[in-house]
Amino acid sequence: MDAVPTTISNALARARQRIDATDADLLLAHVLQRPRSWLFAHAGDTLEADAAARFDALLERRAAGEPVAYLTGSRGFWTLELDVNAATLIPRPETELLVELALARLPMDEPARVADLGTGSGAIALAIARERPKAAVIATDASKAALAVAVGNARRNGIDNVWFRRGDWCEALGNERFDLIVSNPPYIAEGDPHLGEGDLRFEPASALASGADGLDAIRRIVRAAPRHLAASGWLLLEHGWEQGDAVRVLLVDAGFVEVETARDLEQRDRVTLGCIL
Ligand code: GLN
Repeated sequence: MDAVPTTISNALARARQRIDATDADLLLAHVLQRPRSWLFAHAGDTLEADAAARFDALLERRAAGEPVAYLTGSRGFWTLELDVNAATLIPRPETELLVELALARLPMDEPARVADLGTGSGAIALAIARERPKAAVIATDASKAALAVAVGNARRNGIDNVWFRRGDWCEALGNERFDLIVSNPPYIAEGDPHLGEGDLRFEPASALASGADGLDAIRRIVRAAPRHLAASGWLLLEHGWEQGDAVRVLLVDAGFVEVETARDLEQRDRVTLGCIL
């Protein structure tokens, strides 16, 4: 006997018994290729059998732990909708603080040279480029697969003032100097138990972990950045909530001034920045 047809609201109610309510919405909206808001206006509509089957399959994978952004292939960041896949970190809302602090140091209508190191999906570089159309943004990544995603995201969002380069940290910058260098590098300590939890289990290890104390990538960036900054240029780094003291010391030792740490909405140390005279 055929299964009784279900409605959108019934399918969502059933899914919510197993996974987060927002995740259920995002997965069904993805299956139906509609915005999430459409679901609420069509709660009583019948869900066709093939759509119901595809929704069930995604529900199973989500219940088994796969990140919802990898299942839908997309994540909102800033004002952008970004493609993501297993080659890229999933952009986090905390990282918008890094974008805000960068924008505060980039005057609206002036040209500026900006570099985003380890761009992943391109989230930071593309958000800055969107807000500062006169800036020229270089986005780097060591991963060819991540760069392919980032290039696609520039196209998808119609952003043409970002250029992509493959390479490790500042090594991808050649001899050039920038007004502002920004990065959300990997900063988790290798062996940290969090790496075995939640979305982190599915994200690229190279985007998450960096050495015994998590600071290897940050040390490399801080050491090399002064040679790639113009006079009065800024370096802004995202890091873990327990790393503010250590990152400030690294910046001061490398000759940065006006070194400070900004806190995220949860009042945790999140971004440390400094200026080269
Ligand atoms: N810059 C990207 C982001 O913030 C990727 C960061 C990373 O992979 N560590 O989303």
